[in-house]
This record gives sequence, C-alpha cells and structure tokens, in this order.
Amino acid sequence: MKIILLGPPGAGKGTQAKTLASKLNVAHIATGDLLRQNVAKDTDLGKQAKDFMNKGALVPDELVTQMISLRMQEADIEKGFILDGYPRNINQAESLDKILKDRGSEIDSVIYLDASEPVIIQRLTGRLVCSQCGANFHIKNMPPKVAMVCDNCQAKLFQRTDDRAETIKKRLEVYLQESHPLIEYYKKKGKLKRVSSDEDAGIVLDKMLKLLNREQ
Ligand code: ADP
Ligand code: ZN
Repeated sequence: MKIILLGPPGAGKGTQAKTLASKLNVAHIATGDLLRQNVAKDTDLGKQAKDFMNKGALVPDELVTQMISLRMQEADIEKGFILDGYPRNINQAESLDKILKDRGSEIDSVIYLDASEPVIIQRLTGRLVCSQCGANFHIKNMPPKVAMVCDNCQAKLFQRTDDRAETIKKRLEVYLQESHPLIEYYKKKGKLKRVSSDEDAGIVLDKMLKLLNREQ
C-alpha cells in the first residue's frame, strides 16, 4: 500500500506515520527526519537545508525531490510506504507522480489529518523528540516515563529548534500557502480521505485503519 499523510505541522503526521507503517508493515519515509539526519551529520544536503529549516521555510524542491527519488530506489519500498512530509507543494506532488509513474506505480490513498489551530500550537510547543530513534513525546499529552528520556531507546529527548512560537507561526503560514492546495489536488484524483486529528493518538489511528481497511 502506498500512502501519503497530509496535514498541518502538529496534526500528528510523524506519530501516526510511525505506528501505521509498523501496523501495515510498510516503510516510513519522513522527509523532516531525513533532513534532520543530514543536518546532524553535516552532509552537503544538510548544509544546504539547515537555514531554511531553522526559519520554518521549505527546503528547495530540487533538494528534497532528489532525496525522495533516491529513497524510492531502495528495496524496502517494494512492500509499500507511508510518506510523511512529502509532497509539500504542487510542484513536489507532480514530481512524485512522475517518479512513481516511471516505476509503473502510483499512490493508493492520501490521508488528510486535519487539526484545529489551538491544538496544533499546544502540540508543537510541548513536543519532545528522541535524538536517536525520532520518537515523539509531549510534555503534557504524552510525557515520557522518565523526564527527557526516550521510552523506546533511553536516548535523550530534545526540543526541535523550529518548535519555537515564532517559527511555528511561520510554518503554519507556509503550510497554508504551499501545502494546503494539495488537498484539492488529491481530492480531484479521488484519493483523499479526511480524518480529524484533534483527538488522542490512539483514536486517530483507529479511524485511519478503519478508512484504509474498508477499501481492501
Ligand atoms: P513539520 O511537518 O512538523 O513542520 P517536518 O519534520 O515534516 O515538520 O519538517 C521540518 C522542516 O523540514 C520543514 O519546516 C522544512 O523546512 C523541511 N522539510 C521537510 N519536508 C520538506 C519538503 N517535502 N519540502 C521542503 N522542505 C521540507
Ligand atoms: Zn528513542
């Protein structure tokens, strides 16, 4: 199954994509995680992406599309995937269509995780991320068992540099302008399914699984 998760920052794409990918036994491809790994390792791509990310702006399409195109050549893609963070604008969506078409393939479903603005802001300002495995926690909603330590791998948790109030505002603006039009793009293709994601993670996951199962 080839699935795209869409939705504003803070809608829970990362959390849901990880769980959904392991439930469906498909690959989880998160462009934000891939980019952050490149920044941490100070690769050429990381050097080019860093400033855009810290500002809350999009990294240029060519860089991200190149990264996705390479990722799509890896063997684990055959069993299916969940894309989290890509495409982020119409240009990237068209590139993705082309990458898949060249491989005789296409997207099966697009899930739009819709969250309201107060929920988004509350989630992002309290978000904690694992420095090793990338798992997400939240100071209030999903606190780790031990303060600032990952439940899964015991590595240290940190707050993302783009999760500050100022940058969050910018990311929401970018989302509305660049990414929101994707909803119409996939609606027209008859692939879009909307799920409200204001509720707790477990409830949202059940709703997504029900929607996907109904089709099989
Ligand atoms: P969120 O969805 O919570 O904003 P992500 O981890 O998906 O966070 O992305 C973090 C940052 O990485 C974005 O603000 C952007 O700078 C960059 N990024 C991730 N995916 C893309 C993409 N497909 N195109 C351009 N930039 C991207
Ligand atoms: Zn961890």
